[in-house]
Amino acid sequence: MNKPCETRLFIDGTYVPAAKGRVTPLIDPATESSWCEVAAADADDIERAVNGAQRAFEDGWRDLAPGKRAEILFNIARLIREHQEELAQLEMRNIGKPISDARDEVGLSARIFEYYAGAVTKFFGQTIPVARGGFDFTLRQPMGVVAAITPWNFPFPIASWKVAPALAAGNCVVLKPASLSPLTALRLGGLAHEAGLPAGVLQVLAGSGGKIGDVLVQHPLVRKISFTGSTEIGAHIMQLASRDIKRVSLELGGKSPNIIFADADLDQAAASSPMSVFANCGQDCCARSRVFVERKVYDAFVEKFVEATRRLVVGDPSRPETQVGPLVSAAQRNSVEDFLVSAREANRTFACGGDRPDGKGYYLRPAVVLGCETTDRIWREEVFGPAVCVRAFDDEEQMLREVNASPYGLSGSLWTNDLKRAIRVAKRVESGVLSVNSHSSVHVEAPFGGFKQSGLGRDLGMAALEGYTELKNVYIAL
Ligand code: NAD
Repeated sequence: MNKPCETRLFIDGTYVPAAKGRVTPLIDPATESSWCEVAAADADDIERAVNGAQRAFEDGWRDLAPGKRAEILFNIARLIREHQEELAQLEMRNIGKPISDARDEVGLSARIFEYYAGAVTKFFGQTIPVARGGFDFTLRQPMGVVAAITPWNFPFPIASWKVAPALAAGNCVVLKPASLSPLTALRLGGLAHEAGLPAGVLQVLAGSGGKIGDVLVQHPLVRKISFTGSTEIGAHIMQLASRDIKRVSLELGGKSPNIIFADADLDQAAASSPMSVFANCGQDCCARSRVFVERKVYDAFVEKFVEATRRLVVGDPSRPETQVGPLVSAAQRNSVEDFLVSAREANRTFACGGDRPDGKGYYLRPAVVLGCETTDRIWREEVFGPAVCVRAFDDEEQMLREVNASPYGLSGSLWTNDLKRAIRVAKRVESGVLSVNSHSSVHVEAPFGGFKQSGLGRDLGMAALEGYTELKNVYIAL
Protein backbone atom coordinates (compact mmCIF):
# COMPACT_ATOMS: atom_id res chain seq x y z
CA MET A 1 0.00 0.00 0.00
CA ASN A 2 1.72 3.23 -1.05
CA LYS A 3 1.38 6.26 1.19
CA PRO A 4 -0.19 9.05 -0.87
CA CYS A 5 0.55 11.94 1.47
CA GLU A 6 0.37 12.85 5.09
CA THR A 7 -2.11 10.52 6.83
CA ARG A 8 -1.45 11.51 10.44
CA LEU A 9 -3.38 14.01 12.56
CA PHE A 10 -2.23 17.63 12.52
CA ILE A 11 -1.95 18.98 16.09
CA ASP A 12 0.00 21.96 17.43
CA GLY A 13 1.83 22.58 14.17
CA THR A 14 3.01 19.04 13.54
CA TYR A 15 1.80 15.70 12.16
CA VAL A 16 1.33 13.03 14.84
CA PRO A 17 -0.09 9.50 14.94
CA ALA A 18 -3.37 9.00 16.83
CA ALA A 19 -2.71 8.63 20.56
CA LYS A 20 -3.98 5.03 20.58
CA GLY A 21 -2.33 4.24 17.23
CA ARG A 22 -5.67 3.50 15.52
CA VAL A 23 -6.05 3.82 11.75
CA THR A 24 -8.89 3.69 9.20
CA PRO A 25 -8.32 2.16 5.74
CA LEU A 26 -9.43 4.19 2.71
CA ILE A 27 -10.97 2.53 -0.35
CA ASP A 28 -10.53 4.02 -3.83
CA PRO A 29 -14.16 4.22 -5.11
CA ALA A 30 -13.05 3.90 -8.75
CA THR A 31 -11.23 0.59 -8.22
CA GLU A 32 -12.70 -0.73 -4.93
CA SER A 33 -9.14 -1.32 -3.67
CA SER A 34 -7.75 -0.29 -0.32
CA TRP A 35 -4.95 2.22 -0.89
CA CYS A 36 -3.92 3.85 2.41
CA GLU A 37 -4.59 4.03 6.12
CA VAL A 38 -5.34 7.23 7.97
CA ALA A 39 -4.87 7.94 11.68
CA ALA A 40 -8.16 7.72 13.59
CA ALA A 41 -8.42 10.15 16.50
CA ASP A 42 -10.09 9.33 19.78
CA ALA A 43 -10.96 11.28 22.95
CA ASP A 44 -7.29 11.78 23.98
CA ASP A 45 -6.48 13.43 20.64
CA ILE A 46 -9.52 15.67 20.93
CA GLU A 47 -8.46 16.77 24.40
CA ARG A 48 -4.98 17.62 23.14
CA ALA A 49 -6.21 19.41 20.03
CA VAL A 50 -8.88 21.51 21.78
CA ASN A 51 -6.53 22.51 24.63
CA GLY A 52 -3.82 23.43 22.10
CA ALA A 53 -6.30 25.53 20.13
CA GLN A 54 -7.44 27.36 23.27
CA ARG A 55 -3.80 28.09 24.17
CA ALA A 56 -3.13 29.43 20.67
CA PHE A 57 -6.23 31.64 20.95
CA GLU A 58 -5.15 33.12 24.29
CA ASP A 59 -1.48 33.34 23.30
CA GLY A 60 -2.19 35.88 20.63
CA TRP A 61 -4.26 34.79 17.61
CA ARG A 62 -7.34 36.60 18.95
CA ASP A 63 -5.33 39.80 19.46
CA LEU A 64 -3.36 39.78 16.22
CA ALA A 65 -4.22 42.76 14.02
CA PRO A 66 -6.71 41.74 11.31
CA GLY A 67 -4.22 42.91 8.68
CA LYS A 68 -1.66 40.41 10.00
CA ARG A 69 -4.21 37.60 9.95
CA ALA A 70 -5.06 38.65 6.38
CA GLU A 71 -1.39 38.30 5.33
CA ILE A 72 -1.33 34.70 6.55
CA LEU A 73 -4.63 33.88 4.84
CA PHE A 74 -3.31 35.30 1.54
CA ASN A 75 -0.24 33.08 1.98
CA ILE A 76 -2.47 30.03 2.53
CA ALA A 77 -4.33 30.85 -0.70
CA ARG A 78 -1.04 31.12 -2.57
CA LEU A 79 0.17 27.75 -1.27
CA ILE A 80 -3.15 26.13 -2.17
CA ARG A 81 -2.72 27.41 -5.74
CA GLU A 82 0.87 26.16 -5.85
CA HIS A 83 -0.30 22.71 -4.71
CA GLN A 84 -3.46 22.66 -6.83
CA GLU A 85 -2.62 19.53 -8.80
CA GLU A 86 -1.47 17.56 -5.75
CA LEU A 87 -4.64 18.47 -3.83
CA ALA A 88 -6.89 17.70 -6.82
CA GLN A 89 -5.29 14.28 -7.33
CA LEU A 90 -5.74 13.49 -3.63
CA GLU A 91 -9.42 14.42 -3.72
CA MET A 92 -9.98 12.45 -6.92
CA ARG A 93 -8.43 9.28 -5.55
CA ASN A 94 -10.00 9.69 -2.12
CA ILE A 95 -13.66 10.08 -3.15
CA GLY A 96 -13.76 9.41 -6.91
CA LYS A 97 -14.38 13.05 -7.83
CA PRO A 98 -13.74 13.76 -11.55
CA ILE A 99 -10.33 15.39 -11.83
CA SER A 100 -11.58 18.49 -13.67
CA ASP A 101 -14.10 19.15 -10.86
CA ALA A 102 -11.43 18.49 -8.25
CA ARG A 103 -9.14 21.08 -9.86
CA ASP A 104 -11.96 23.63 -9.96
CA GLU A 105 -12.74 23.01 -6.30
CA VAL A 106 -9.14 23.58 -5.25
CA GLY A 107 -9.21 26.87 -7.18
CA LEU A 108 -12.48 27.81 -5.44
CA SER A 109 -10.90 27.05 -2.06
CA ALA A 110 -7.97 29.39 -2.78
CA ARG A 111 -10.48 32.12 -3.71
CA ILE A 112 -12.30 31.56 -0.41
CA PHE A 113 -9.09 32.21 1.56
CA GLU A 114 -8.41 35.31 -0.56
CA TYR A 115 -11.94 36.62 -0.04
CA TYR A 116 -11.75 36.37 3.77
CA ALA A 117 -8.18 37.73 3.79
CA GLY A 118 -9.57 40.82 2.04
CA ALA A 119 -12.86 40.92 3.92
CA VAL A 120 -11.55 40.90 7.48
CA THR A 121 -9.99 44.35 7.18
CA LYS A 122 -13.37 45.72 6.06
CA PHE A 123 -15.38 44.10 8.84
CA PHE A 124 -16.15 46.36 11.80
CA GLY A 125 -18.68 47.50 14.37
CA GLN A 126 -20.84 50.62 14.52
CA THR A 127 -21.15 53.76 16.59
CA ILE A 128 -24.71 54.16 17.80
CA PRO A 129 -26.35 57.47 18.78
CA VAL A 130 -28.09 56.25 21.98
CA ALA A 131 -30.83 58.36 23.53
CA ARG A 132 -29.07 58.96 26.85
CA GLY A 133 -26.01 60.53 25.22
CA GLY A 134 -22.52 59.22 25.98
CA PHE A 135 -20.60 57.16 23.43
CA ASP A 136 -21.88 53.77 22.29
CA PHE A 137 -20.10 51.39 19.94
CA THR A 138 -20.17 47.73 18.95
CA LEU A 139 -17.33 45.25 18.60
CA ARG A 140 -17.22 42.01 16.63
CA GLN A 141 -15.20 39.67 18.84
CA PRO A 142 -13.92 36.16 18.14
CA MET A 143 -15.56 33.33 20.04
CA GLY A 144 -12.63 31.06 20.90
CA VAL A 145 -12.32 27.47 19.72
CA VAL A 146 -14.60 26.53 16.81
CA ALA A 147 -15.23 22.87 15.93
CA ALA A 148 -15.68 22.59 12.15
CA ILE A 149 -17.24 19.27 11.13
CA THR A 150 -17.44 18.57 7.39
CA PRO A 151 -18.95 15.98 5.00
CA TRP A 152 -17.32 13.86 2.29
CA ASN A 153 -18.91 15.29 -0.87
CA PHE A 154 -16.99 18.59 -1.25
CA PRO A 155 -14.24 18.04 1.33
CA PHE A 156 -11.81 20.81 0.44
CA PRO A 157 -14.15 23.75 -0.39
CA ILE A 158 -16.40 23.11 2.61
CA ALA A 159 -13.40 22.85 4.97
CA SER A 160 -12.10 26.09 3.42
CA TRP A 161 -15.37 27.98 3.76
CA LYS A 162 -15.48 27.17 7.46
CA VAL A 163 -11.79 27.53 8.33
CA ALA A 164 -11.08 30.77 6.41
CA PRO A 165 -13.78 33.02 7.95
CA ALA A 166 -13.36 31.48 11.41
CA LEU A 167 -9.59 32.19 11.39
CA ALA A 168 -10.05 35.60 9.78
CA ALA A 169 -12.36 36.60 12.64
CA GLY A 170 -9.71 35.57 15.20
CA ASN A 171 -10.92 32.13 16.26
CA CYS A 172 -8.91 28.91 16.44
CA VAL A 173 -10.34 25.87 14.67
CA VAL A 174 -10.44 22.13 15.28
CA LEU A 175 -11.38 20.70 11.88
CA LYS A 176 -12.87 17.21 11.72
CA PRO A 177 -13.35 16.04 8.13
CA ALA A 178 -15.58 13.06 7.32
CA SER A 179 -13.85 9.74 7.94
CA LEU A 180 -14.23 8.83 4.24
CA SER A 181 -12.48 11.99 2.99
CA PRO A 182 -9.79 13.27 5.38
CA LEU A 183 -6.78 13.71 3.08
CA THR A 184 -7.08 17.25 1.71
CA ALA A 185 -8.09 18.58 5.15
CA LEU A 186 -4.98 17.01 6.69
CA ARG A 187 -2.88 18.56 3.93
CA LEU A 188 -4.47 21.95 4.60
CA GLY A 189 -3.17 21.80 8.19
CA GLY A 190 0.45 21.50 7.00
CA LEU A 191 0.09 24.09 4.22
CA ALA A 192 -1.51 26.63 6.58
CA HIS A 193 1.36 26.19 9.04
CA GLU A 194 3.88 26.61 6.23
CA ALA A 195 2.03 29.81 5.30
CA GLY A 196 2.74 31.24 8.75
CA LEU A 197 -0.26 30.15 10.81
CA PRO A 198 0.96 29.71 14.40
CA ALA A 199 0.91 26.21 15.94
CA GLY A 200 -2.47 25.26 17.41
CA VAL A 201 -4.55 27.82 15.47
CA LEU A 202 -5.74 25.11 13.06
CA GLN A 203 -5.86 21.49 14.28
CA VAL A 204 -7.06 18.70 11.98
CA LEU A 205 -8.41 15.44 13.40
CA ALA A 206 -9.41 12.56 11.16
CA GLY A 207 -11.72 9.96 12.67
CA SER A 208 -15.21 8.57 12.85
CA GLY A 209 -17.86 11.15 13.72
CA GLY A 210 -19.96 8.43 15.31
CA LYS A 211 -17.11 7.67 17.75
CA ILE A 212 -15.57 11.08 18.50
CA GLY A 213 -18.12 13.64 17.30
CA ASP A 214 -20.04 13.83 20.56
CA VAL A 215 -16.83 14.32 22.58
CA LEU A 216 -15.72 17.18 20.35
CA VAL A 217 -19.11 18.88 20.30
CA GLN A 218 -19.50 18.68 24.09
CA HIS A 219 -15.96 19.75 24.96
CA PRO A 220 -16.33 22.68 27.40
CA LEU A 221 -13.74 24.79 25.54
CA VAL A 222 -15.54 24.49 22.18
CA ARG A 223 -17.65 27.63 21.82
CA LYS A 224 -19.13 27.10 18.39
CA ILE A 225 -19.88 24.11 16.18
CA SER A 226 -19.96 24.75 12.45
CA PHE A 227 -21.42 21.62 10.88
CA THR A 228 -22.18 20.51 7.34
CA GLY A 229 -23.74 17.10 6.87
CA SER A 230 -27.01 15.25 7.19
CA THR A 231 -30.09 16.71 8.85
CA GLU A 232 -30.17 13.76 11.27
CA ILE A 233 -26.65 14.39 12.65
CA GLY A 234 -27.23 18.17 12.54
CA ALA A 235 -30.28 17.80 14.78
CA HIS A 236 -28.29 15.59 17.15
CA ILE A 237 -25.49 18.18 17.37
CA MET A 238 -28.00 20.97 18.00
CA GLN A 239 -29.42 18.98 20.88
CA LEU A 240 -25.97 18.36 22.43
CA ALA A 241 -25.00 22.02 21.95
CA SER A 242 -28.18 23.25 23.62
CA ARG A 243 -26.99 22.16 27.08
CA ASP A 244 -24.31 24.86 27.18
CA ILE A 245 -26.03 27.21 24.69
CA LYS A 246 -23.11 26.72 22.31
CA ARG A 247 -23.34 28.53 19.02
CA VAL A 248 -24.18 26.28 16.08
CA SER A 249 -24.40 26.75 12.37
CA LEU A 250 -25.79 23.88 10.35
CA GLU A 251 -25.72 23.24 6.61
CA LEU A 252 -27.84 20.15 6.06
CA GLY A 253 -29.66 18.08 3.47
CA GLY A 254 -31.71 19.18 0.49
CA LYS A 255 -34.30 18.16 -2.11
CA SER A 256 -34.03 21.12 -4.40
CA PRO A 257 -36.48 21.96 -7.21
CA ASN A 258 -35.70 22.83 -10.81
CA ILE A 259 -38.75 24.66 -12.19
CA ILE A 260 -39.17 24.97 -15.96
CA PHE A 261 -41.85 27.36 -17.27
CA ALA A 262 -43.12 27.05 -20.84
CA ASP A 263 -41.68 30.43 -21.85
CA ALA A 264 -38.12 29.45 -20.80
CA ASP A 265 -35.23 28.89 -23.18
CA LEU A 266 -35.87 25.13 -23.29
CA ASP A 267 -32.65 24.25 -25.08
CA GLN A 268 -30.54 26.02 -22.50
CA ALA A 269 -32.55 24.68 -19.55
CA ALA A 270 -32.46 21.09 -20.84
CA ALA A 271 -28.78 21.19 -21.76
CA SER A 272 -27.67 22.51 -18.37
CA SER A 273 -30.09 20.60 -16.12
CA PRO A 274 -28.36 17.17 -16.13
CA MET A 275 -25.26 18.54 -14.39
CA SER A 276 -27.46 20.40 -11.88
CA VAL A 277 -28.32 17.01 -10.42
CA PHE A 278 -25.69 14.53 -11.66
CA ALA A 279 -22.55 16.57 -10.94
CA ASN A 280 -20.51 14.88 -8.20
CA CYS A 281 -22.57 11.77 -9.04
CA GLY A 282 -25.62 13.42 -7.46
CA GLN A 283 -23.87 13.61 -4.07
CA ASP A 284 -24.63 17.28 -3.73
CA CYS A 285 -26.79 18.95 -1.09
CA CYS A 286 -27.96 21.41 -3.80
CA ALA A 287 -28.77 18.70 -6.39
CA ARG A 288 -31.88 19.70 -8.37
CA SER A 289 -33.45 16.29 -7.80
CA ARG A 290 -37.09 17.32 -8.38
CA VAL A 291 -37.83 18.80 -11.80
CA PHE A 292 -41.17 20.58 -12.27
CA VAL A 293 -42.04 21.18 -15.95
CA GLU A 294 -45.04 23.18 -17.20
CA ARG A 295 -47.23 20.63 -18.99
CA LYS A 296 -47.27 22.48 -22.33
CA VAL A 297 -43.53 21.80 -22.77
CA TYR A 298 -43.21 18.62 -20.68
CA ASP A 299 -42.67 16.19 -23.58
CA ALA A 300 -40.29 18.50 -25.42
CA PHE A 301 -38.26 19.20 -22.28
CA VAL A 302 -38.08 15.56 -21.19
CA GLU A 303 -36.86 14.46 -24.60
CA LYS A 304 -34.03 17.03 -24.62
CA PHE A 305 -33.19 16.45 -20.94
CA VAL A 306 -32.94 12.66 -21.32
CA GLU A 307 -30.86 13.04 -24.46
CA ALA A 308 -28.46 15.40 -22.66
CA THR A 309 -28.29 13.01 -19.67
CA ARG A 310 -27.43 10.07 -21.94
CA ARG A 311 -24.54 12.09 -23.37
CA LEU A 312 -22.88 12.61 -19.95
CA VAL A 313 -19.45 11.02 -19.75
CA VAL A 314 -19.58 8.51 -16.88
CA GLY A 315 -16.44 6.69 -15.81
CA ASP A 316 -12.84 6.88 -14.69
CA PRO A 317 -12.49 10.09 -12.59
CA SER A 318 -8.84 10.52 -13.61
CA ARG A 319 -9.84 11.26 -17.24
CA PRO A 320 -10.26 15.00 -17.90
CA GLU A 321 -13.42 14.46 -19.99
CA THR A 322 -15.26 12.53 -17.22
CA GLN A 323 -18.30 14.35 -15.87
CA VAL A 324 -19.73 11.68 -13.53
CA GLY A 325 -17.43 9.43 -11.49
CA PRO A 326 -18.29 6.64 -9.06
CA LEU A 327 -20.29 7.04 -5.87
CA VAL A 328 -18.15 7.45 -2.78
CA SER A 329 -18.65 3.96 -1.31
CA ALA A 330 -20.43 0.64 -1.70
CA ALA A 331 -22.81 1.67 1.11
CA GLN A 332 -23.73 4.89 -0.70
CA ARG A 333 -24.44 3.02 -3.94
CA ASN A 334 -26.58 0.47 -2.07
CA SER A 335 -28.54 3.28 -0.45
CA VAL A 336 -29.22 4.92 -3.85
CA GLU A 337 -30.23 1.56 -5.33
CA ASP A 338 -32.80 1.10 -2.55
CA PHE A 339 -34.51 4.28 -3.80
CA LEU A 340 -34.41 3.00 -7.39
CA VAL A 341 -35.93 -0.34 -6.34
CA SER A 342 -38.78 1.44 -4.58
CA ALA A 343 -39.47 3.48 -7.75
CA ARG A 344 -39.40 0.35 -9.94
CA GLU A 345 -41.75 -1.46 -7.54
CA ALA A 346 -44.18 1.46 -7.89
CA ASN A 347 -43.97 1.05 -11.71
CA ARG A 348 -42.35 4.43 -12.31
CA THR A 349 -40.79 4.92 -15.75
CA PHE A 350 -36.99 4.95 -16.06
CA ALA A 351 -36.31 7.12 -19.13
CA CYS A 352 -32.64 6.24 -18.78
CA GLY A 353 -30.01 4.92 -16.36
CA GLY A 354 -30.22 3.43 -12.90
CA ASP A 355 -28.06 0.42 -13.81
CA ARG A 356 -24.46 -0.47 -12.94
CA PRO A 357 -21.92 -0.48 -15.76
CA ASP A 358 -19.72 -3.60 -15.96
CA GLY A 359 -16.42 -3.69 -14.09
CA LYS A 360 -15.02 -2.44 -10.82
CA GLY A 361 -15.91 0.83 -9.07
CA TYR A 362 -19.07 2.08 -7.37
CA TYR A 363 -20.60 3.41 -10.59
CA LEU A 364 -24.27 3.91 -11.36
CA ARG A 365 -25.63 5.39 -14.60
CA PRO A 366 -27.62 8.63 -14.10
CA ALA A 367 -31.32 7.80 -13.78
CA VAL A 368 -34.22 9.96 -14.98
CA VAL A 369 -37.47 8.77 -13.35
CA LEU A 370 -40.85 9.85 -14.73
CA GLY A 371 -44.40 9.60 -13.41
CA CYS A 372 -43.61 9.88 -9.68
CA GLU A 373 -46.32 10.69 -7.17
CA THR A 374 -45.54 13.26 -4.47
CA THR A 375 -45.89 10.49 -1.88
CA ASP A 376 -43.07 8.39 -3.42
CA ARG A 377 -39.98 7.97 -1.27
CA ILE A 378 -37.71 8.90 -4.18
CA TRP A 379 -39.66 12.15 -4.64
CA ARG A 380 -39.72 13.14 -0.95
CA GLU A 381 -36.35 12.05 0.48
CA GLU A 382 -32.80 13.11 -0.26
CA VAL A 383 -31.31 10.36 -2.48
CA PHE A 384 -27.77 11.78 -2.56
CA GLY A 385 -26.96 9.94 -5.75
CA PRO A 386 -27.53 10.03 -9.53
CA ALA A 387 -31.35 9.97 -9.68
CA VAL A 388 -33.82 12.69 -10.64
CA CYS A 389 -37.63 12.75 -10.76
CA VAL A 390 -39.56 14.82 -13.31
CA ARG A 391 -43.22 15.89 -12.93
CA ALA A 392 -45.54 18.03 -15.01
CA PHE A 393 -47.52 20.97 -13.57
CA ASP A 394 -50.43 23.03 -14.88
CA ASP A 395 -50.87 25.68 -12.27
CA GLU A 396 -48.23 27.92 -10.63
CA GLU A 397 -49.91 27.87 -7.19
CA GLN A 398 -50.23 24.09 -7.14
CA MET A 399 -46.60 23.72 -8.25
CA LEU A 400 -45.42 26.06 -5.47
CA ARG A 401 -47.37 24.04 -2.90
CA GLU A 402 -45.56 20.88 -4.08
CA VAL A 403 -42.18 22.64 -4.11
CA ASN A 404 -42.66 23.94 -0.57
CA ALA A 405 -44.13 20.68 0.78
CA SER A 406 -40.57 19.43 1.27
CA PRO A 407 -39.14 19.71 4.79
CA TYR A 408 -35.92 20.87 3.10
CA GLY A 409 -35.26 24.32 1.66
CA LEU A 410 -31.68 24.67 0.51
CA SER A 411 -31.46 25.60 -3.14
CA GLY A 412 -33.35 25.65 -6.43
CA SER A 413 -33.52 26.85 -10.02
CA LEU A 414 -36.23 28.64 -11.92
CA TRP A 415 -36.35 28.98 -15.73
CA THR A 416 -38.51 31.66 -17.32
CA ASN A 417 -38.18 34.73 -19.55
CA ASP A 418 -40.99 36.54 -17.76
CA LEU A 419 -39.35 38.96 -15.33
CA LYS A 420 -42.44 39.47 -13.18
CA ARG A 421 -42.94 35.74 -12.84
CA ALA A 422 -39.28 35.23 -11.98
CA ILE A 423 -39.50 37.70 -9.10
CA ARG A 424 -42.92 36.48 -7.92
CA VAL A 425 -41.92 32.82 -7.85
CA ALA A 426 -38.40 33.46 -6.46
CA LYS A 427 -40.02 35.18 -3.48
CA ARG A 428 -42.36 32.25 -2.84
CA VAL A 429 -39.92 29.32 -3.05
CA GLU A 430 -38.88 28.40 0.49
CA SER A 431 -35.12 28.07 0.07
CA GLY A 432 -31.99 29.88 1.20
CA VAL A 433 -30.54 30.01 -2.30
CA LEU A 434 -32.28 30.34 -5.66
CA SER A 435 -31.00 30.75 -9.20
CA VAL A 436 -32.96 32.16 -12.16
CA ASN A 437 -32.02 30.87 -15.64
CA SER A 438 -28.93 29.18 -14.18
CA HIS A 439 -28.07 26.43 -11.71
CA SER A 440 -25.35 28.13 -9.72
CA SER A 441 -25.75 27.90 -5.95
CA VAL A 442 -22.39 28.86 -4.48
CA HIS A 443 -20.81 32.30 -4.77
CA VAL A 444 -17.89 33.03 -2.46
CA GLU A 445 -19.20 36.58 -1.89
CA ALA A 446 -22.85 35.68 -1.18
CA PRO A 447 -24.53 33.94 1.78
CA PHE A 448 -25.16 30.22 1.41
CA GLY A 449 -27.49 28.17 3.62
CA GLY A 450 -30.92 26.69 4.05
CA PHE A 451 -34.46 27.33 5.19
CA LYS A 452 -36.34 24.79 7.31
CA GLN A 453 -34.56 21.44 7.85
CA SER A 454 -31.77 22.41 5.43
CA GLY A 455 -29.99 24.40 8.07
CA LEU A 456 -29.37 27.28 10.38
CA GLY A 457 -26.98 30.19 9.85
CA ARG A 458 -25.04 30.99 6.70
CA ASP A 459 -21.69 30.05 5.20
CA LEU A 460 -19.79 32.27 2.74
CA GLY A 461 -20.05 36.03 2.15
CA MET A 462 -19.87 38.53 4.98
CA ALA A 463 -22.63 36.59 6.77
CA ALA A 464 -20.13 33.84 7.61
CA LEU A 465 -17.77 36.34 9.30
CA GLU A 466 -20.67 37.57 11.44
CA GLY A 467 -21.42 33.97 12.37
CA TYR A 468 -17.92 33.46 13.78
CA THR A 469 -18.08 36.48 16.09
CA GLU A 470 -19.98 37.63 19.17
CA LEU A 471 -21.51 41.09 18.95
CA LYS A 472 -20.59 43.25 21.94
CA ASN A 473 -22.06 46.64 22.76
CA VAL A 474 -19.94 49.10 24.80
CA TYR A 475 -21.39 52.25 26.36
CA ILE A 476 -19.14 55.01 27.71
CA ALA A 477 -20.72 57.68 29.88
CA LEU A 478 -19.37 61.09 28.97
P1 NAD B 1 -22.99 12.95 7.92
O1 NAD B 1 -24.02 13.73 8.68
O2 NAD B 1 -23.05 11.48 7.99
O3 NAD B 1 -21.52 13.37 8.40
C1 NAD B 1 -21.08 14.71 8.38
C2 NAD B 1 -19.95 14.87 9.38
O4 NAD B 1 -20.45 14.66 10.69
C3 NAD B 1 -18.80 13.87 9.20
O5 NAD B 1 -17.57 14.52 9.47
C4 NAD B 1 -19.10 12.84 10.27
O6 NAD B 1 -17.95 12.15 10.68
C5 NAD B 1 -19.63 13.75 11.38
N1 NAD B 1 -20.44 13.08 12.42
C6 NAD B 1 -21.11 11.90 12.35
N2 NAD B 1 -21.70 11.64 13.56
C7 NAD B 1 -21.40 12.68 14.38
C8 NAD B 1 -21.72 13.01 15.73
N3 NAD B 1 -22.47 12.21 16.49
N4 NAD B 1 -21.25 14.16 16.24
C9 NAD B 1 -20.49 15.00 15.50
N5 NAD B 1 -20.14 14.74 14.21
C10 NAD B 1 -20.60 13.60 13.66
O7 NAD B 1 -23.07 13.50 6.41
P2 NAD B 1 -22.26 12.96 5.16
O8 NAD B 1 -22.79 11.61 4.83
O9 NAD B 1 -20.80 13.15 5.37
O10 NAD B 1 -22.69 14.05 4.06
C11 NAD B 1 -23.89 13.95 3.37
C12 NAD B 1 -24.93 14.90 3.93
O11 NAD B 1 -24.38 16.20 4.02
C13 NAD B 1 -26.13 15.03 3.02
O12 NAD B 1 -27.31 15.03 3.77
C14 NAD B 1 -25.93 16.40 2.37
O13 NAD B 1 -27.11 17.01 1.92
C15 NAD B 1 -25.28 17.15 3.46
N6 NAD B 1 -24.54 18.30 2.93
C16 NAD B 1 -25.05 19.53 3.13
C17 NAD B 1 -24.39 20.64 2.60
C18 NAD B 1 -24.94 22.03 2.81
O14 NAD B 1 -24.17 22.99 2.63
N7 NAD B 1 -26.19 22.20 3.17
C19 NAD B 1 -23.22 20.49 1.88
C20 NAD B 1 -22.73 19.19 1.70
C21 NAD B 1 -23.40 18.11 2.25
